[in-house]
Amino acid sequence: MALIVQKFGGTSVGSVERIEQVAAKVKKFRENGDDIVVVVSAMSGETNRLIDLAKQISEQPVARELDVMVSTGEQVTIALLAMALIKIGVPAVSYTGGQVRILTDSAHTKARILQIDAQHIQKELKAGRVVVVAGFQGVDESGNITTLGRGGSDTTGVALAAALKADECQIYTDVDGVYTTDPRVVARAQRLDKITFEEMLEMASLGSKVLQIRAVEFAGKYSVPLRVLHSFQEGPGTLITLDEEESMEQPIISGIAFNRDEAKLTIRGVPDTPGVAFKILGPISAANVEVDMIVQNVAHDNTTDFTFTVHRNDYHNALQVLEGIARDMGAREVIGDTDIAKVSIVGVGMRSHAGVASRMFEALAKENINIQMISTSEIKVSVVIEEKYLELAVRALHTAFELDAPAGKGE
Ligand code: ASP
Ligand code: MG
Repeated sequence: MALIVQKFGGTSVGSVERIEQVAAKVKKFRENGDDIVVVVSAMSGETNRLIDLAKQISEQPVARELDVMVSTGEQVTIALLAMALIKIGVPAVSYTGGQVRILTDSAHTKARILQIDAQHIQKELKAGRVVVVAGFQGVDESGNITTLGRGGSDTTGVALAAALKADECQIYTDVDGVYTTDPRVVARAQRLDKITFEEMLEMASLGSKVLQIRAVEFAGKYSVPLRVLHSFQEGPGTLITLDEEESMEQPIISGIAFNRDEAKLTIRGVPDTPGVAFKILGPISAANVEVDMIVQNVAHDNTTDFTFTVHRNDYHNALQVLEGIARDMGAREVIGDTDIAKVSIVGVGMRSHAGVASRMFEALAKENINIQMISTSEIKVSVVIEEKYLELAVRALHTAFELDAPAGKGE
């Protein structure tokens, strides 16, 4: 008998029929003898609808009041799911975040969980009930309702699993697991049986938006085994774990992530003196622009070229700042490029294998794809290329690292 925390996202509880399907699923686990705590999101679209309402009153609604309102989305789904469970003979009880005392700080709309009182839930479980808890919300020390940021129900699920020392936290969603890459780009992408927290963080931060990044960090920190599963299809899903040993037999590369959200900026012919990087990136960061990749080159004529990438939304802002810097520093010119994409190979296997990067570069060279920037970390190699070659690059790398599903499958 296991204790399992199951989280169902907005599309999984998007209608009364779906809520009843979720109830039937939970009932099956109960019949196996497992103790179940369910965390639900609001019905899909509901949180957006509520935020829109608030914005009709004020462009910048008071954060405390916004939390009072947007937290109601989850209050509806917990009650509906508890009713659906009771209707099919499964004793169940619903609680808001405040009621089970998910204690958070007071940072409205982006609160952090400080503590969870597990006793209350444990008592209910002992009494044989399924406990249905509202995701995304908590309460601060003074009793104010708080919310955890968009997509925060994942974090609620993981935090409850950690507090209850659950055997597993299952995240049910509209995909059947984590894939080697986006199946819309590579038809022969495969579901991974296992992936480490570290790899998942890299994949997630690069745009594989299956799980909220914060929830993965939380799960890693507290060693909560996390599993991503399809809400309405059978299957083992993908287990996200600490354990690298068990993945030893897996390919060196676990997945290929990509990102079209970046833009590239270059300042050319900067007089090369100590402090150049700071003089360039200081004002950029002061303008609240986050920098991702950075490349600096020393030229022969005592000037340097300095290139970095930022989020595309920050491009115009960053360009303006950089043009000012170029004037001040007497740099030759500033060049910007938004038609770029970042492609990364991710895998803990890189730690124990040499030559992974060169294999990546070879695969791109074979397709005549020019690499504009490169960055590496312990478990990742990223390149910036022209955006129009993105899909070709991802496919070539997927094949080169032997990630393609056997022919016939997924084709
Ligand atoms: N309902 C919240 C949102 O839409 C929380 C969640 O779904 O995880 O962001
Ligand atoms: Mg979500």
